[in-house]
Amino acid sequence: MRFIPLRLIALALLLVACQAAPSCSGSNGIGGGTPIPPLPPANELTFDQDRAWADLAHLVENIGRRRIGTEGAQLTREYIRGELAKLGWIFEEDIFQCEPPVGANRKGTVTGTNLIARWPGTIDREVWLASHYDTFDRPKFVGANDAGSSTAVLIELGRQLALEPGVKREGPGVSLVWFDGEEPFYPVRWNDETNSTFGSRHLAQRAEDEGFDERILALVLLDMVGDKNLGLKLEQLSTNWLKQIFRRTASELEMDWIIVGEQEIKDDHRPFLRKGIPAIDLIDFNYPNVSNLYWHTDKDTLDKCSAESLGIVGRLVLATLPRVAAKGMELRGPNATE
Ligand SMILES: [Zn+2]
Repeated sequence: MRFIPLRLIALALLLVACQAAPSCSGSNGIGGGTPIPPLPPANELTFDQDRAWADLAHLVENIGRRRIGTEGAQLTREYIRGELAKLGWIFEEDIFQCEPPVGANRKGTVTGTNLIARWPGTIDREVWLASHYDTFDRPKFVGANDAGSSTAVLIELGRQLALEPGVKREGPGVSLVWFDGEEPFYPVRWNDETNSTFGSRHLAQRAEDEGFDERILALVLLDMVGDKNLGLKLEQLSTNWLKQIFRRTASELEMDWIIVGEQEIKDDHRPFLRKGIPAIDLIDFNYPNVSNLYWHTDKDTLDKCSAESLGIVGRLVLATLPRVAAKGMELRGPNATE
């Protein structure tokens, strides 16, 4: 056994104690540093869950399947733009090509489209809030939870975060990002490099190539957040300070119960983590319980989801956003020392 000096043991114990107690840190900062902002007042945590539910119902019932490179995906983008462009969000489409692997039902090059809505800030940095909007490639699969729920939550977040058109946000900006092509080409299995996360891999690579990776303070990914029996995992490899902010904020909102643990899950945040961009994935991978039986089946329908779950997640994101922005600015803003 390797000798460990007492001093190190004491330090390790302190670190363990700090992790166990969310309020324990140097100067009320997450992991030290500048204090994180207090919770916004309740009137700034307004999230119209019924309107988000109407968005979700539209995606599932009126559009249906939303596979990459299909009319359903195009109708989804048109719907999102129709809801948010009029409020002043600035839209951009990030178009890419991908090749279904050998053995997939789909043949030939498929064109995918990530949809980005920007609200600039007074500082040239951004927090990204993201979801995928494509659906799994099975007959009759309409993806109410995966990923209609998070697609709809982002739309309503867009309504809540909009200011007067043309007025910049004080501090960093916000981008809402709907990734295409998260799901694998069926029936070939998920593969991180060759058969899934096509849109997020493309955009993360572009960020690095074009140098806007440094402007992204953090990426907050939502996936499967509509389960009426809600229980969010914090994806295990997500950035620690983001996990701490979400845990502390959920606790202060007295909704600790919605975070049920951590699990390693491959998702659209991974390509950004690999580029050194702080990222977190909040995902309910117990749908409806630990069996995860409804996942990627025709049972993933509206009746398994609830407006309340959309509202809880929406309010949690609204409450964490100023904290993510503040900590992100400390670590990656123009005056960051690291
Ligand atoms: Zn999925």
